[in-house]
Parts: sequence; structure tokens; C-alpha cells
Amino acid sequence: MAKAWLSLGANIGDPPAQLADAIARLGAHPHIAVTRQSSVIRTAPWGKTDQPDFANMAAEVETALSPVDLLHVCLDIERDMGRVRHEVWGPRLIDIDIIAYERIEMQTGRLTLPHPHAHERDFVLSPLGEISPATADWIRALHD
Ligand code: AMP
Repeated sequence: MAKAWLSLGANIGDPPAQLADAIARLGAHPHIAVTRQSSVIRTAPWGKTDQPDFANMAAEVETALSPVDLLHVCLDIERDMGRVRHEVWGPRLIDIDIIAYERIEMQTGRLTLPHPHAHERDFVLSPLGEISPATADWIRALHD
């Protein structure tokens, strides 16, 4: 089993309920166990600033899935929960990103690990630091 860390965010609908729904869906997958959850923080929007605040959290999972298969599960959950992709960094019912998968560093057209923006986003690193300080420190150190 591998450990991976996910970042979850939502800013329309009922964000805390959607985060809980996404965690439940991840945990219901036969090859994913959710082993830790951060608190939920409220953050001002990033990138596109004229939209509602976000609720953000991080989760640690143990999984038998490969990084790409885990990404597909996250994207399927986003789609099943009704996320409509209108604009980059725009409002969203649920967003699930892979922050890190073990200590793998990879860059393909489909998946970059650790997540390419994680190191510059407090709303990612701060919840991650609650559940895995070593992983947050590793990501910071990669960009020192
Ligand atoms: P967004 O929904 O704006 O976060 O972008 C999702 C897209 O980014 C996905 O379709 C992935 O192919 C790509 N992507 C690249 N690296 C990652 C990552 N570490 N976690 C999630 N999505 C990623």
C-alpha cells in the first residue's frame, strides 16, 4: 500500500458537506482507505478573486492504486458530484488534487507530482502540515 495526500476544495453549494461527501466517496473505493483528515479551513479565492471563499482540507489515503489510477478516481468523483468545468480557477462544487504520492517526483501531460502549485498555496500546505508535517516540509524543501 502507498500513502498519498490529497487537497480538497469547494466554494459553491454547501462546501463543508461536499468535502465530507468527497471523503466518503474516496473511502468507499475498494482500493482506497482514508487514514487522516485535516480540519476544514476557509480561504479567499486564489487566481480568480471575484468568487466565493473556498473551504479547503487535506486528507491522507492509503491506496493500492497507481498515481494515475488514483487521479482518475479523483476526477471521476469530481464528475459524479457534478462539477462543471467552465473556467480555470473558477467556482467549483468540488476539486480534488493529488498533492503528493509517497515521495514520487514525476511530470507527464496528465499528472505532475508533487502538485505543481502546492508549494505556493497556504491553503494546501497548511492543512497538509496538520496531517503530515514531513510531507509539507518535503514539498517546501523542493522549492527552496
Ligand atoms: P484542476 O481541476 O484545475 O485542478 O485540473 C485538473 C487537471 O490537472 C487534471 O485533469 C490532471 O490531468 C491535471 N493534473 C496534473 N497534476 C495533477 C495533480 N497532482 N493532481 C490533480 N490533477 C493534476
